[in-house]
Amino acid sequence: MREIRYGDTAVALNPSVRMDKSDPIAAIFIDNPPVNASSAAVRAGLLAAIADAGSDTSITAIVILGAGRAFIAGSDIKEFGKSLPPPELPDVLEAIEACPKPVIAAIHGSALGGGYELALSCDWRIATPDAVVGLPEVSLGMIPGAGGTQRLPRLVGIPQSIDLIVSSSRVEGPRALELGMIDALAGPDLLADAKAFASGKGKRLASQLLPPPARPDDIEAAVSAALAKGRGRECVREAIAAIRMVETTPVAEALKLERAAFQRLRTGEEARALRYNFFGERAAAKFESTSKNSIESVGIVGAGTMGTGIATVILAAGFPVTLVERQKDVLDRAVGVIKANLDTLFRLGKLGGSRTEEVLARLIPTETIAELVDADLVIEAVFEDLDVKTTVLKDLGRTLKPGAIIASNTSYLDIEQLATATSRPADFVGLHFFAPAQRMKLLEVVQCRETAPGVVATAFALAKPMGKLPVLARPGEGFIGNRIYARYRAQCEYALEEGLLPQEIDAVAMGLGFAAGPFAVSDISGLDIAWRMRQSKAAGRDPRERYVRLPDLVCELGRLGRKTNGGWYDYDASGKPVPSPVVTNLITQHAPADRSMRPETQALSDRIVGAIVNEAALIVSEGIARSASDIDVVLVNGYGFSRFKGGLLFQAAALPAQRVADIVDAAQVAVGWGFRRGDVEALLRPLRETA
Ligand code: NAD
Repeated sequence: MREIRYGDTAVALNPSVRMDKSDPIAAIFIDNPPVNASSAAVRAGLLAAIADAGSDTSITAIVILGAGRAFIAGSDIKEFGKSLPPPELPDVLEAIEACPKPVIAAIHGSALGGGYELALSCDWRIATPDAVVGLPEVSLGMIPGAGGTQRLPRLVGIPQSIDLIVSSSRVEGPRALELGMIDALAGPDLLADAKAFASGKGKRLASQLLPPPARPDDIEAAVSAALAKGRGRECVREAIAAIRMVETTPVAEALKLERAAFQRLRTGEEARALRYNFFGERAAAKFESTSKNSIESVGIVGAGTMGTGIATVILAAGFPVTLVERQKDVLDRAVGVIKANLDTLFRLGKLGGSRTEEVLARLIPTETIAELVDADLVIEAVFEDLDVKTTVLKDLGRTLKPGAIIASNTSYLDIEQLATATSRPADFVGLHFFAPAQRMKLLEVVQCRETAPGVVATAFALAKPMGKLPVLARPGEGFIGNRIYARYRAQCEYALEEGLLPQEIDAVAMGLGFAAGPFAVSDISGLDIAWRMRQSKAAGRDPRERYVRLPDLVCELGRLGRKTNGGWYDYDASGKPVPSPVVTNLITQHAPADRSMRPETQALSDRIVGAIVNEAALIVSEGIARSASDIDVVLVNGYGFSRFKGGLLFQAAALPAQRVADIVDAAQVAVGWGFRRGDVEALLRPLRETA
């Protein structure tokens, strides 16, 4: 990316803003590395610069631009959680509008949120073709709070603004010009072009323009589409209402109302949760290492459910993939599935401009492992069976070139044992994708005892082009996500035994923030996977452990989920789940006769939260996950927990310590024998401090 530098004649007004008045057109440089986030110092510096240049009779016009990589990539998100230090952004924008000289925003890199609002308050905007502009506040649970909802519609129209703001669009230079979000595109010398553009230009305040005419039907259509997309979120409704003030309310008053809504939303629940999420995902995706392998080609062994999904994402990320499957018919079918997956990604615009055929041309389907000899990384996704995996991994250890990375997608097997099977454990790493791999964002990267840090760093780096969110895990049954899920599921199964029905329990889970309840989910993935696992563990199970037989009984009836047209639920002709009389009957037979023994839904909700928080505390103290916020990232990106609630641990951290202790007690009573207690206060403390 092009970097903008200032010369010796630029004078520092404060640590974050410089001004160069060696020319009648003054240049104000925002200089707050790395991305010129709008901080209090930036705002104060801009205010001083505008006042100075505005009153200097030798200056005819002013260009504002960012030093380094960006104009202003956005506001300092950390500031949103606190009271905003003065001067606030609207004060700066008011000064720019009041400045008697024309002010030109010269944009490169990105101008997002407050950065683009600053540009909107300037008289004109010129940008490099690769610059990105937009108002993404809604994605953080807020609305633009410095005139974005009032100035943008006056440039691009009301319907277009509703779409741009509600979908938090980031728009590149040429499209921004087409829409009217900027006035000109610059060549390689942005400052020179901005100065040339300034010649002959006067003041032109966006806030004083009449919006381009729009038909009422078009406005209504944009509103309906935005509300549907926004699923009733408050910030979406507020954004639409603010934009529509352009039709009804004098701008000075509308700006005040917009600011008030912004202030209310930024300290609200959803914005706090989304900020937590933003920082959590950023922290989770970091892994420091001094070395990294270069990956140019990837191999996958096993073309079943996971192998095809993983092949899809790696092809879509731009790598050639050699896919090894021992059954010819399965291999042929897999190629068809991958093609269909790629077609879907193409339709969604996620193939980076390539056509399906071009991407598919990089796939080499084969039945022999020997063809992987040149691969830099090979992921095995064969059956979840220790003998099968050990054989494949031994073979890979012998076949692959020195230094090639060997990865396993195992969910539950002893991963240290798999590492040893390769005979080169330093090159081995767990890459636990989630189903469907082409859609789920989460990727647990499992660092075993001997895995080289450079191998982990390579996996983290690879996650980005695949559109995955990597979270570091250490070996342990179920790693992070499945281990937590097992405790959560167990609580739900105890409730079945106590007489609650699947639909009642699923409703409790959804009330907590899961997109679907555990019984609806197992109907989708099939009840037989967990059934087989329970059978394989039956011999070693301690008789004192609380074991709920009902899931086995449902399987024994041949009800394995959607694929057998019935599991925990029945399915009507349209595929909609409906409560099953068979399951209801089964549960009623096993439930205690005394209905007062049935848990209240609140009690179940508490037990679920208590069980998850407790297990999370154990997982962090054992070093299997790095932090509570990593676990929330796992729950949100792999298990459908609502990002608008931040995460389940984030929610728990809002409860008083005594209440958390009480709900862990409740979970403990339900589990009975074998419960291990974690230090939940130590887990939640960092979240309480940042929340
Ligand atoms: P699957 O049964 O759909 O596919 C496994 C494939 O591997 C089969 O096509 C089989 O023919 C092939 N295979 C077996 N031995 C082979 C060999 N020696 N050489 C080449 N191919 C061979 O299984 P799946 O659901 O895709 O699971 C694969 C792995 O992914 C398992 O370890 C599983 O635990 C893990 N996983 C599965 C899910 C899920 O939801 N399905 C989620 C995460 C991880």
